[in-house]
Amino acid sequence: MTVIRGATTIVQDTPENIRSAVAELLEQIESRNALKRDEVLSIVFSSTSDIHSYYPAKAAREAGFASCSLFSAQEPDIEGGLALCIRVMLFVERNVEPHHVYLRGARVLRKDLAQKYNIAIDGPAGSGKSTIAKMLANDLHILYLDTGAMYRACALAALRAGTDIDDEAQVCDLMRDLPLSVLYRDGVQHTMLGDEDVTPLLRTSEVTMAASSISRHASVRMKMVEKQREIAGKMPCVLDGRDIGTFVLPDADFKFFLTASPAVRAKRRYDELIARGEKVDLQSLTEEIAARDKQDSTREFAPLRQAEDALLIDTSDLTVEEVLGVVKRKMQEKI
Ligand code: C5P
Repeated sequence: MTVIRGATTIVQDTPENIRSAVAELLEQIESRNALKRDEVLSIVFSSTSDIHSYYPAKAAREAGFASCSLFSAQEPDIEGGLALCIRVMLFVERNVEPHHVYLRGARVLRKDLAQKYNIAIDGPAGSGKSTIAKMLANDLHILYLDTGAMYRACALAALRAGTDIDDEAQVCDLMRDLPLSVLYRDGVQHTMLGDEDVTPLLRTSEVTMAASSISRHASVRMKMVEKQREIAGKMPCVLDGRDIGTFVLPDADFKFFLTASPAVRAKRRYDELIARGEKVDLQSLTEEIAARDKQDSTREFAPLRQAEDALLIDTSDLTVEEVLGVVKRKMQEKI
């Protein structure tokens, strides 16, 4: 017999959260251990005392564990313990090498299992990469690094300083002492120039085009890439950009290249800006995207390009959930 352990956390004590967290945990345990349902003899759950709204054992029954014996218990309330956590122990008939599974916030319980891994998501503007990267990072409880925001902050600094963006020497001077850093508050990235949080200023048309122009200079890229590698080297994270899979992290564990037709990409940007209350017209956005595509993919140094080992996903006719589903499935296949 083998005993396999696992744990997960939920964000809020609701029956729906408990049902989906238990289903996900059991599904992952099954797939990582190549288990068949009828090999599972018994499952024991213990949840922290802040979970009241549903029995994890009932959730397991609903997830299809029909014939094994199930049991739920509640743990004592220990100060400093992990909140909203469901632990599980599966007793399996066969002798297997157990792969224990710790998901979401419960990863902190098993530092030995929580390896550092990086996910590279590249693609042109409007391909959906930042939406997917953010959702994925949120689901996996890992960091999301928006590398475009870093190039945008360089562009903002150049515009403010009156730097001629086409003049490599001037740009190089600006970069030497540029006080650019990236901070995280509640998991959200804030891009800083010195003490100033410039995040809200980075999405204007002027900054967008200037970012594409300034990012072609090697002096800019090398400085940004150094910071990106430093962050990615410390913790698991999802990075989105143009050159993550090809240049920043050629050894990234998972690589995706998202794309979509130019018309779909322009319309997505249009909807996004209109939702933010900005005045834009579709024709000029289409032209801006085409100009950026050209500039980003024809620059000499680390251009926008799909890495050979990246999975290409055309998102034109897919919903966000469908794209996320493809990404997660591919990751699971590789684990
Ligand atoms: O992704 P986002 O649209 O915010 O990127 C703004 C610009 O920054 C891009 O058009 C591109 O020129 C540049 N960029 C880059 N490499 C990255 C991320 C962004 O060259 N990794």
